[in-house]
Amino acid sequence: MKLITDNEYASVQTSSASRNQHSSVKIPFVDLKLQHQPIEAQIEEAIKAVVQQGDFVLGKALADFEESFATASGVKYAIGVASGTDAIALGLQACGIGTGDEVIVPANTFIATLIGVIKAGATPILVDCYPDTALINLRTLNQVITNKTKAVVPVHLYGQMVAPHQLLKLAQTYNLLIFEDAAQAHLSKGEGYCAGSVGKAAAFSFYPSKNLGAFGNGGIVLTNDLQVADKVRALRNYGAPRKYFHTDIGTNSRLDTIQAAVLNVKLPHLAKWNQWRNLAARHYDALLTPLKSQGIIPILNQNGTGHVYHLYVIRVSAECPLGRQTIQEKLAARGIQTGIHYPIPCHLQPAYQYLGYKTGDFPNSEALCQEILSLPMYPGLSNDQINYIVNSLQSLF
Ligand SMILES: *Cc1c(COP(=O)(O)O)cnc(C)c1O
Repeated sequence: MKLITDNEYASVQTSSASRNQHSSVKIPFVDLKLQHQPIEAQIEEAIKAVVQQGDFVLGKALADFEESFATASGVKYAIGVASGTDAIALGLQACGIGTGDEVIVPANTFIATLIGVIKAGATPILVDCYPDTALINLRTLNQVITNKTKAVVPVHLYGQMVAPHQLLKLAQTYNLLIFEDAAQAHLSKGEGYCAGSVGKAAAFSFYPSKNLGAFGNGGIVLTNDLQVADKVRALRNYGAPRKYFHTDIGTNSRLDTIQAAVLNVKLPHLAKWNQWRNLAARHYDALLTPLKSQGIIPILNQNGTGHVYHLYVIRVSAECPLGRQTIQEKLAARGIQTGIHYPIPCHLQPAYQYLGYKTGDFPNSEALCQEILSLPMYPGLSNDQINYIVNSLQSLF
């Protein structure tokens, strides 16, 4: 399959640049309209078809999407649920993880990773991240293993996969189940693996701004294990493996047919969109190289073209003469929107004080939260825009 049609790439770049020229925001952090405009008619058709069919819950478009997403990821089964958070909770539960179990998670993740583990009934055990990739530090896993440790939830943060071979080896050594949080990593690749195909099961989110986003909330569980798949199917549907027969308490958490219909139209474009993100990141990387001497350091990409760049994140390190806030404000004054993913590490959030962690427990995660800055990133972000962003950054020094 030829992913890049040069004309399409060029035209999307031009429309991206012209669209925002009359607004004070010159470059938004994310531009979803850019990906929806060319397929708007198709999406409307797909939604209309569901309305005509009337199969709003567990309808045909959902079954179609589940099959397509599983195939695209190289996994046997996919079960659509209401959100990425539910995908983690129900997926872990279906894997037999629950009360009394300890599940290792990175301290440096979006909070929903912890919510999923806790909703499944288990206790999250945090470990620090590597300072350069911001991914879970696999070398420290052994330090937190107890006889209650059942699973590890690697988070493919920012779109980059946690090293599959090392992960599988550790899981084997300590008899841990791997459950991937791939909410930011649709079709990400690493060491020949596709995100969602490494562990026992995996969770994805279709929150609108994710690499594959619905027109609302959505999520999916991937697994090669039929029993796990059947269990998630039951759990999302009142704990019923068949109608009016309830083997589990379960919940109500289906991916709406209308959302699946939207996703069916978008999925064929995902590999191309990911490739555009990767190209934009490479352009950023090249332009930012001279700024290393000023302490501006992009998060390290260890997977090359496999990285799907949900976010493009730089570190404003201690060596930088300017503070992160100053940089963020000055970029905003030039019409450039940025973000921080995430400003407070999970273990220092008020709701999680009961886990017993304190400042200093995860120094790399704590330092990253102070240093990271996410620059605009979306498919169709143009090279001219990236030039403008990096020139603006450079001009501050
Ligand atoms: C978005 C996200 C989730 C949660 O997904 P929702 O669909 O918002 O519930 C979980 N983990 C990570 C790493 C995420 O980025």
